[in-house]
Amino acid sequence: MKLPEAPHRSLCTDCGLSRTDDPKRCGRACQFIAPDYPALEAQVHGRARDASRPDELHFGPFQTMYRARMKAPKAGAQWTGITTSLAARALADGLVDAVLCMGPDPDDNWRPCPMLITKPADMAQARGMRMGYAPLLALLEPAIAAGHKRIGVIGIPCQVYALRALERELGLERLYVIGTPCSDNTTTEAFHTFLGLLSDEPEAITYLEFRADYRVELRFADGRKQLIPFLDLPISQLPRDFFPLTCRTCVDYTNVLADITVGYMGGQGDQWLLVRNARGAELLEGLKAELVLSAPGSAGKRKGAVTGFIENTKRAAGGLPLRRMPGWLRPVVSWIMPRFGPRGLEFARARVEMKAAETVLHLRRDAPRRMKAMVPAHIWQLTEAYGLLPQPEEQPLMRSDNAPSTPSHD
Ligand SMILES: Cc1cc2nc3c(=O)[nH]c(=O)nc-3n(C[C@H](O)[C@H](O)[C@H](O)COP(=O)(O)OP(=O)(O)OC[C@H]3O[C@@H](n4cnc5c(N)ncnc54)[C@H](O)[C@@H]3O)c2cc1C
Ligand code: SF4
Ligand code: SF4
Repeated sequence: MKLPEAPHRSLCTDCGLSRTDDPKRCGRACQFIAPDYPALEAQVHGRARDASRPDELHFGPFQTMYRARMKAPKAGAQWTGITTSLAARALADGLVDAVLCMGPDPDDNWRPCPMLITKPADMAQARGMRMGYAPLLALLEPAIAAGHKRIGVIGIPCQVYALRALERELGLERLYVIGTPCSDNTTTEAFHTFLGLLSDEPEAITYLEFRADYRVELRFADGRKQLIPFLDLPISQLPRDFFPLTCRTCVDYTNVLADITVGYMGGQGDQWLLVRNARGAELLEGLKAELVLSAPGSAGKRKGAVTGFIENTKRAAGGLPLRRMPGWLRPVVSWIMPRFGPRGLEFARARVEMKAAETVLHLRRDAPRRMKAMVPAHIWQLTEAYGLLPQPEEQPLMRSDNAPSTPSHD
């Protein structure tokens, strides 16, 4: 299906809303304009995150967390395929009659392409991670026009924010949202440049993942695997603007508005599930017989790692944080980090705090006037321990004072 062109906006990940019949809705539905997390958390989960409950400040509202994997991992999946299997099960059980998600573009396996899937077996086409943005929500109106009233959506946080902001206007009988965490996304073109720096045969790379043991895993078309320690990545050769400002400053790493979040950060080598509400529990129930579930573990201390990351980010002054370290020391540090650095939930907490600090530092530098509207209170609570506090002009706006009816950034 040919989608309408998107108008240019500086802070936009082309979630698809601007390509719908009423693009003005971006003004009240965009994560990058005037997000209201407490209100949407209450709308979706019945309550906003409660910082007095363990881990909710970091991960958003949830009922239960699990370390998880499919008993029989799915071929082509990014991890073991829980995300696409949850959706396939929901289709098979009739919870939904269509699922909106991303598959590969026919001309470029790494480029995401929005898909509407109605048969459980077809969810296999959506397995695996793509790098880049594609207008997922532009398929919502066509799906509803085609008569689908019970819809499942698999999305990354900036897509799910806009979806939730509009949910009540869609007239759906049911909406189930499966979210993945997301960080450090970039354009598909920029990602191909990165692959070119990692290997002499970038076109043969079929899989890439930043693992929780501080290594990048590459898989090749001929079945080979390669592990590269984070410290050995060719970060210094990437252009300063490799990561767009959107992805350096977005404020929801763990997809807090999904019914269930499926990631890996807190999974210690397995996947990591956050069941956030009754719909999330219903989705998980359908798949439980196919899963190995256990309580997530936690080890190590994050404070030093996060402090070091913040110092590097400050030194990089808006570019990519480079670790200045002699070559001979890199293998030693690469050996130490997975063994003694934060692991399991502590790793996930560390990454959430790092991302919160990045938001503050990058937005302060590149778009300071956006801070009070774009940076919610929970981000400041996360950065407080590292001395990053809001200046008077950066204090988050109370939402009742902050309800723009038209988009307020260009
Ligand atoms: C850019 C990006 C960054 C991520 N960063 C993290 C991270 O830092 N920490 C973490 O715990 N998890 C992260 N994830 C999620 C993680 O990579 C896995 O996708 C997730 O754990 C699900 O694995 P799975 O085997 O269950 O997925 P599969 O069953 O293989 O399904 C993958 C699903 O991802 C969706 N998808 C793939 N690419 C995109 C895309 N570009 N945009 C939107 N949706 C897409 C597809 O619709 C599909 O449903 C990231 C995902 C993306 C897309
Ligand atoms: S809601 Fe935001 S991200 Fe989505 S199209 Fe509009 S401006 Fe872009
Ligand atoms: S990093 Fe944030 S802004 Fe970028 S694609 Fe992911 S959720 Fe969207």
